[in-house]
Amino acid sequence: MKKVVKFGGSSLASAEQFKKAGDIIRADKERSFVVPSAPGKRNPDDTKVTDMLYACYALAGEDKDFKVQLQAIKDRYQEIIDGLGLDLSLDDEFKVIEKNFKDKAGDNYAASRGEYLNGIIMAAYLGFEFVDAAQVIRFTDEGEFDPETTNTLLRERLNGVDAAVIPGFYGAYENGTVKTFSRGGSDITGSIVARAVKANVYENWTDVSGFLIADPRIIYKPEGIDTITYKELRELSYMGAGVLHEDAIFPVRREGIPINIRNTNAPDDEGTWIVESTCQKPKYVITGIAGKKGFCSVNIDKDMMNSEIGFGRKVLQAFEENGISFEHVPSGIDTMTVFVHQDEFMHKEQQVVSGIHRLAEPDHIEIEGDLALIAVVGRGMKSTRGTAGRIFSALAHANVNVKMIDQGSSELNIIIGVANSDFETAIKAIYDIFVRIQI
Ligand code: ASP
Repeated sequence: MKKVVKFGGSSLASAEQFKKAGDIIRADKERSFVVPSAPGKRNPDDTKVTDMLYACYALAGEDKDFKVQLQAIKDRYQEIIDGLGLDLSLDDEFKVIEKNFKDKAGDNYAASRGEYLNGIIMAAYLGFEFVDAAQVIRFTDEGEFDPETTNTLLRERLNGVDAAVIPGFYGAYENGTVKTFSRGGSDITGSIVARAVKANVYENWTDVSGFLIADPRIIYKPEGIDTITYKELRELSYMGAGVLHEDAIFPVRREGIPINIRNTNAPDDEGTWIVESTCQKPKYVITGIAGKKGFCSVNIDKDMMNSEIGFGRKVLQAFEENGISFEHVPSGIDTMTVFVHQDEFMHKEQQVVSGIHRLAEPDHIEIEGDLALIAVVGRGMKSTRGTAGRIFSALAHANVNVKMIDQGSSELNIIIGVANSDFETAIKAIYDIFVRIQI
């Protein structure tokens, strides 16, 4: 039995945090593959090492002096090394980094050094083997992550290795040039390693005890989620629920490996289990609520639209031609509405409108901005009648005007469109009706 454990930046921000991670790893022999992030913030006003690296490299890119900035990064690592009492010097590593910065190795390379150096420290601290992610995580020439080549490389490299540290966040092209995932990408590395070693669980250690039913900035002390399915999580993270990088579920999902989100600062908390499927009944009908502001709706009317073959395709073609992706497309008999991101759409709205007129010849087009979408997600909805009814009566009581409703055919989620200004009120009303006032 093997466990892959990934530690986020705040879990490794200082020697003190490193010790907590070390204690967690040593408490369970199965925790044999470790994926570290770069040191994060030690306090709210602190700067993440990744951001320090980007800033430092920006100077190097403009041929400006970056010595002071690089020294500040070195100091952060030295503080950790000293605090752990390790006999380890990163001097040579920093000489290479300095040279590569001068040679304009690129900001991907620069940012990746955060995880790389933290991995070296972690490996020395634990006495585990260090495996450079550049050798085992592969990107295609087009810059896409290459899952199958990576899986083969990792499996070969880790064959016979009992315990290793593989830094998160980056990999490389075939020619060795380093490339990072998007921000927060160490979560993806953890998942890739878990797949390769066929782990029985992927533990993702962070600074919260798992997912919460709703955003704590909106709901005072919301309850936690103990078990959530991959599908539910996908819906929620797409709608903005943080904690885990949204691409991190794919590698483990293929192997049916559960993810356990845990809190480095409260290691006894069970955290949240993310699973493929479960017979465990959810505590509430809904598993979670999440949402995003900043959408626009484009409402297209045309008499007899329902009998015109190809109308929807022509409308969407106008969006495609302008490089705009859509979020939702609810439709009525003579109307069709397309929800898009306002910031993406704003600059191109008139081109899209004229494109729709040209391609689909509608009677009338109306645009409304400043909308929010809220996803109410729950595997429990399938077997419970009246969920939609409860949501809408709660919203009506809270005086929230519902602009759009869209229930996925999987009955896993209901998406509601409201004005940006009603966003928080709507989430509170939905949380209250399902979690606080259970019927
Ligand atoms: N250090 C990177 C970031 O700050 C990646 C990660 O932490 O997952 O985004």
